[in-house]
Amino acid sequence: MVGEDSTAELEETFSVVANDIRLDILWTLWEIYTDNPSPDPGSVPFSTLKDRVGVRDSGQFHYHLDELVPRFVTRHEDGYTLTYAGARIIGAAVSGIYTDTQTTLETTAADSCPDPSCEGELELGYHQGHVRATCNSCEERQIMSAPPILVGAHDVDRNPGLLGSFTLTQLQKTVRGFCHLCSGPVEGSVVQQSLDDEVETGENVEIVYECQECEAASYTAATTAILGHPAVVSLLYDAGIDYRKISPWHITRTLNSKERVNSEDPVRVEVTVSIADTKLTAILDENLTVLDCSEQ
Ligand SMILES: [Zn+2]
Ligand SMILES: [Zn+2]
Repeated sequence: MVGEDSTAELEETFSVVANDIRLDILWTLWEIYTDNPSPDPGSVPFSTLKDRVGVRDSGQFHYHLDELVPRFVTRHEDGYTLTYAGARIIGAAVSGIYTDTQTTLETTAADSCPDPSCEGELELGYHQGHVRATCNSCEERQIMSAPPILVGAHDVDRNPGLLGSFTLTQLQKTVRGFCHLCSGPVEGSVVQQSLDDEVETGENVEIVYECQECEAASYTAATTAILGHPAVVSLLYDAGIDYRKISPWHITRTLNSKERVNSEDPVRVEVTVSIADTKLTAILDENLTVLDCSEQ
């Protein structure tokens, strides 16, 4: 949970790196490692680091370097290394997470609508940190967060499928229990828990994964919880479908899935997928753990 303490801590953390020399030190450490990649990189001696950063005044350089220890840089007997946070700051700078608000992808019709009964086309676009998939005919709409580098450095114009594989990777990380933003633990739950809401064919039982640390929430359909299940992966493989290439917005359509709440107390969600001639039924509990997954 982000409380007052963490806000103060965050302010302090960002103020530590809001300085040209300190950012240069992080960049330089990063460059020294990437210039000479090694599975077991040693630490960088003070003099090497100082020369590369190009600060003449030893006292001044020492001061700024010390400010980065221990959060972003670790001091060893023979030199310095980047911490995980130090490497993340560089990664964030490269992907433009905090700075790049200009990168956009003009909306292009790129896919069929997730709703099998709709003739419309799904238009994909990227704006202000979000991939948007919108049907040009019905209400279908999905929004997923993604860093600017996704469209800035990848060839998304020519291969819009990259938007799908990136967002699926994020979603699968979440399903496996790691927040896509902060890597904190994620808890799944069923949004709609009532039998009265029994869904029509083709509609979804909404589920949500919430991060217990940063509170980011990812809403999706129950079928998403079983996409990576070995039984489903194998069934798709036998049908000539590589599950890693399914876009998040096409999961239910590709799997021909039917979802319903089949018990309220305890909450149980039943997801039936039909792939080729085989039907597979999975039962999920209230936290989206797969209790059973078997062919019919
Ligand atoms: Zn549509
Ligand atoms: Zn999180």
